[in-house]
Amino acid sequence: MIYLDSAATTPVRRDVLEAMWPYLTGDFGNPSSHHGVGESAARALTQARRRVADWLGCRASEIVFTSGGTEADNLAIKGIALAAPRGRHIVLSAIEHPAVVESVDHLRRLHGFEVTVVPVDHHGLVSAADFASALRPDTTLATIMLANNEIGTMQPIAALAEIAHASGVPFHTDAVQAAGWLDVRLDTLGVDALSVSGHKLGAPKGVGVLAVRQRLRLEPVVHGGGQERGHRSGTENVAFAVGFAAAVAATEPERLQAAARTTRLRDDFIGAVLADVPGAMLTGHPVDRLPSVASFCFPGTSGEAVLLQLEERGITVSSGSACAAGSDDPSPVLLALGIAPQVAQTAVRFTLTPTTTADELAQTVRSLVEAVADVASLR
Ligand code: PLP
Repeated sequence: MIYLDSAATTPVRRDVLEAMWPYLTGDFGNPSSHHGVGESAARALTQARRRVADWLGCRASEIVFTSGGTEADNLAIKGIALAAPRGRHIVLSAIEHPAVVESVDHLRRLHGFEVTVVPVDHHGLVSAADFASALRPDTTLATIMLANNEIGTMQPIAALAEIAHASGVPFHTDAVQAAGWLDVRLDTLGVDALSVSGHKLGAPKGVGVLAVRQRLRLEPVVHGGGQERGHRSGTENVAFAVGFAAAVAATEPERLQAAARTTRLRDDFIGAVLADVPGAMLTGHPVDRLPSVASFCFPGTSGEAVLLQLEERGITVSSGSACAAGSDDPSPVLLALGIAPQVAQTAVRFTLTPTTTADELAQTVRSLVEAVADVASLR
């Protein structure tokens, strides 16, 4: 199989699994327990927290382990907005992940928040001027993703966060897709809160992190025993937290090299697809895009049918995003770029892994030429 769907998920790395194993077996204790096996688990959790905090450029006390990116986004948005003393207004971009969109909508429906959606240009970029004009004296929170999961477009987050801060507005970014490819330190990005997810970088599905500055108050979403400094109750998933930290330790030293290599492969791949597949159209920004993401529309086809044709040829890709899978509606992200609904239905996303090879991509281009021709001929 040629796996080109790393934005959907990645396999658990062997070194990650080995790091987790003791905390699923011998050192299985509850970190809240006052005995040896509990204290051993608590030490492992503390160490994992410290490692993740170093990676994210924040304090260990600013890390909240969650069940994934979705929960981290929910906690950031509902938690900050509901605890904030000022206003009931939220700003987000037109291409946020459903975890962000639906959290904001929850606040609108149940808590009376007003919402401003900042548009994007045809490459998926938020403009600083549009963002600045969306902020109001009563804005409680701004949330703009670092890199988009369907088109890979990267936003100028540091500049946007600075604009938000000049108006006294806290800034959250969903960095789920960026983690493993970009610098995701809070201090470099200048953000107040940031969400990441383990399964995009070789840790298991079901673990994520919200990093949130200590000065921000956070209303919990999950109530109970007060774990994670009261921010997220529930017995901590020690093994998965350890796995997350191990994935970070394994991938971060290689990140810059992997990103540079993958960017070169991706650009060659994009060039070959545009040259060899009649009518192929790149979606997202041509340059400011994640190293891993090559996303296209193939007008006159159906993205789902092209996916199935590629699958038959041993190539695993996605039509749009995994989160929208099962839905026949055109992607709201592509519609926000100004792409017509019938063209948006023809989207196919290829997301490279750090180990993708040039040979695999050459084979993918050959298969894609056949797949698109086959699908187009049937319509
Ligand atoms: N945010 C973005 C941008 C994503 O791409 C995803 C998952 O693909 C999520 C949030 C949700 O993360 P999780 O799958 O860990 O819940």
